[in-house]
Amino acid sequence: MKVSIIVLCFIGVILFTSLLTAPKIKLVDKDLIINLNEEYKEPGYKAYTLWFDITDGVSIVSDVDTSKVGEYKVIYKFKHTKKVRKVKVIETIPPELTLEGDIDSYVCPNGSYVEAGFKAIDNYDGDITDKVNIKVEKDKITYSVSDTSGNITTVERNLKYEDNNSPEIKLKGESRMTLKVGTSYTEPGYEASDNCLGDITDKVSIDGSVDINTPGNYKITYKVSDGVNETVVERNIYVTKGLATLGVENAGGVIYLTFDDGPHSSNTRKILDTLKKYDVKATFFVVPKDGLGYLIKEEYDSGHSIGIHSVTHTYSSVYASDEAFKNDVTRCNSIIKDITGEYTHLYRFPGGSSNTVSRSYSNGIITRMSNWLHDNGYHYFDWNISSGDAGATTSSDGVYNNVVSRLSKDRYNVVLMHDTHEYTANAIERIILYGIENGYTFAPITMNTKESHHGIAN
Ligand SMILES: [Zn+2]
Repeated sequence: MKVSIIVLCFIGVILFTSLLTAPKIKLVDKDLIINLNEEYKEPGYKAYTLWFDITDGVSIVSDVDTSKVGEYKVIYKFKHTKKVRKVKVIETIPPELTLEGDIDSYVCPNGSYVEAGFKAIDNYDGDITDKVNIKVEKDKITYSVSDTSGNITTVERNLKYEDNNSPEIKLKGESRMTLKVGTSYTEPGYEASDNCLGDITDKVSIDGSVDINTPGNYKITYKVSDGVNETVVERNIYVTKGLATLGVENAGGVIYLTFDDGPHSSNTRKILDTLKKYDVKATFFVVPKDGLGYLIKEEYDSGHSIGIHSVTHTYSSVYASDEAFKNDVTRCNSIIKDITGEYTHLYRFPGGSSNTVSRSYSNGIITRMSNWLHDNGYHYFDWNISSGDAGATTSSDGVYNNVVSRLSKDRYNVVLMHDTHEYTANAIERIILYGIENGYTFAPITMNTKESHHGIAN
């Protein structure tokens, strides 16, 4: 009994002593948060036993890297005693969260919102779109995202349950149609759809009619509503006296579109397409070129008139002598015959019959050759409206304005243009529409057309 008391006392003394002599480490500001790229400064520490300061004996191991966001440790050690300081490196710029679509988004009544998209970019983490949290409530959607440093950005999208998109009507066929008197008009059809209601073709109401026997401009109106918004679309139908059955070629209000100097690979192509679209016939005074004969063939096959202009179009050679002139005309005509299978008897002087440039090559040549043309069955045509596209203007607006401002219902209108110019090609559709909408008729020049002459000046 006595012995055991002595042993216990002995153990107690040893424990007490070792407790008093055990080393302790104390840290100043234990855990730290510092900004990215900020310098880490040791905040200080102290180590001691009951009797001694042992700070100098402490070893430190640190993995702090302030150039990278993260959590690091600084470990302080004295023999078996250890203390850890946690260092957190953060950045403070919150991510940017952007919404695609509208902040106020309309949703079909009874419909549900279809996410229009969003993007989250953080200055440090980069693209964190996949970390975005979405909270959907009845009238709003909340998007939030946090970067690795814990900076949070929140954005809201408001939902409005309203159909704010108008329905759409798509017309089948052309929205501008040209029809010949006495033919027939059949509704080409239409389709209507709405973002909320889907196909609403059966809700379309149609207004207007076409009197196919009376020339004029007619309008068919298509209307549809989704209950909130209404959409109206029009189809314009021009009933004209027609072209092939004109029979009034020299009457007022006829327009003869004439194109000189072509064909041209792209511009003549475009003009032919436009003429075809409106079933308008025109006249081409050609300067045949190798490889482009197919365009003259197409002009001819499409019902346009082909006339002779020149093979060379070089004044000094065309007007060099009577023989040179006749040679140019007959050569040009045989090329046309080779291409179309038919000779033409329509002619236009290079520079017009009033040109004075020919004086310097052969005095009186226009006077002599105009007689020669007539004696040989040719009709020659000048113009009474110049589009100005040979130099006065180089824009489609200019060509259009020059032509339409000079059109008259009191005479026939022979319009000079050149299918070699893109700006001319681009003006044709507007000129045709102006003519149609204002009651003019288009026709190709034929041998029945009254010749249009300037005064001869040489
Ligand atoms: Zn010319």
